[in-house]
Amino acid sequence: MREIRCLQEWFIRWVQKNIKTTTTKNPEKKELDDRLRAKPELCSPETPTYNPIDSNIAIANFKFLAELNHLVEGKSNPSKVPVDPEKISWRIEELALYYGAKHAKTVKMRDYHYYSHRGRQLEHYGEEIKELLPYGIAFTVEMKREAVEKAPATPEIIESSRAYVEAAIIGMQLAYFIRELGYKARVHMDANYLVITTLVAQDAGIGVIGRHGLLITPKYGPLVRLGVVTTDMPLTPGKKLEIEIHEFCNVCGLCATTCPGRAIPERDREFIDGELRWQIDQEKCYEFWRNVGTDCGVCIKHCPFGKGIDILELEKPEYSKEPSKLLRKYLNKNKNPN
Ligand code: SF4
Ligand code: SF4
Repeated sequence: MREIRCLQEWFIRWVQKNIKTTTTKNPEKKELDDRLRAKPELCSPETPTYNPIDSNIAIANFKFLAELNHLVEGKSNPSKVPVDPEKISWRIEELALYYGAKHAKTVKMRDYHYYSHRGRQLEHYGEEIKELLPYGIAFTVEMKREAVEKAPATPEIIESSRAYVEAAIIGMQLAYFIRELGYKARVHMDANYLVITTLVAQDAGIGVIGRHGLLITPKYGPLVRLGVVTTDMPLTPGKKLEIEIHEFCNVCGLCATTCPGRAIPERDREFIDGELRWQIDQEKCYEFWRNVGTDCGVCIKHCPFGKGIDILELEKPEYSKEPSKLLRKYLNKNKNPN
């Protein structure tokens, strides 16, 4: 059977988190595991969204990504160029934007950014992640709204696979440059992440995480794919965005009410592992993907950010105090687009 993998961030997180909790340790997961295994792979001919031309565009992109995978790490130039952390941070952010990124920020890496063990790559599956490089560059690439509007259908998965390719290539360009300067650099790309990119990008100051578990960014909202390069080259960390998204998400809830997999909580945030947050039901989400044959994206499609309102509007006093006013503005605009 053709193998194709195109998992969104939270599912990758779920897979990696569950490496140590197999169905042997969690027999109650066996039924779900068996059920998922029995379903056709994403983009395969047995899925309801299959199209012999379009589905193969996505498959081609994922195959290309698989062949790039061995380039995530590489040898550094033995002679090191001394760098000023502030200047090189600015330079590398500019370079990422020049290569096509929509946002780029440097960050100090924290232990909680890293997964504990590796996933996806069979040859390294379950290995402990030991080398935690201390700095990172987080960046975004755009996902085109016209394609995401068609979710959950093949144009969306073509677009997400295209964006994964773009993010991988920008990450490689940055990593090759850093290695030329004599420092270590590791690209985190589709099917080969050692870090939780949403957390890294949020701490870098690129955006904030919404109810749907995705990063919401200025101008593009959640219509982005994330890339991260980690390094031992000293960098100056960016500043986190001080935007309170939770109140807005509390009154909005559009991602939760439209999620076809019923995977996004409609209730308020809860304490999970000592942190007040929303938790997506990754298993329900992934089961929906397998039912439909694509990586869905309906929650991205319905999020008002990047679809008429900008997350930065929440910094304005009239909306920061009363986020429901901003939501009303969005809903009215969409009712009367002219
Ligand atoms: S809308 Fe629901 S099922 Fe679809 S990707 Fe988002 S969380 Fe998953
Ligand atoms: S759709 Fe609404 S509730 Fe969901 S993340 Fe976006 S703003 Fe928050």
